[in-house]
Amino acid sequence: MMIKNGIEVRCGICGKPILHKKSDPSGRLSVDHIVPESWCGSDDAKNLQPSHVRCNAVKGNNTDRVIERA
Ligand SMILES: [Zn+2]
Repeated sequence: MMIKNGIEVRCGICGKPILHKKSDPSGRLSVDHIVPESWCGSDDAKNLQPSHVRCNAVKGNNTDRVIERA
């Protein structure tokens, strides 16, 4: 996955921009497995997407769960 400085990175789960804020560690960048590793998801780039730390934590292993936007 290529993430370059100066390019806005959006969360693959909630669709909002991912910002690096010291005051908001849960809003930082995490790498989400679209198919979780526990479901035999691969580490291939096709199975990875950027996400917020908090969104990744909420998603957990539920690929079929819909997270409603505020
Ligand atoms: Zn998010």
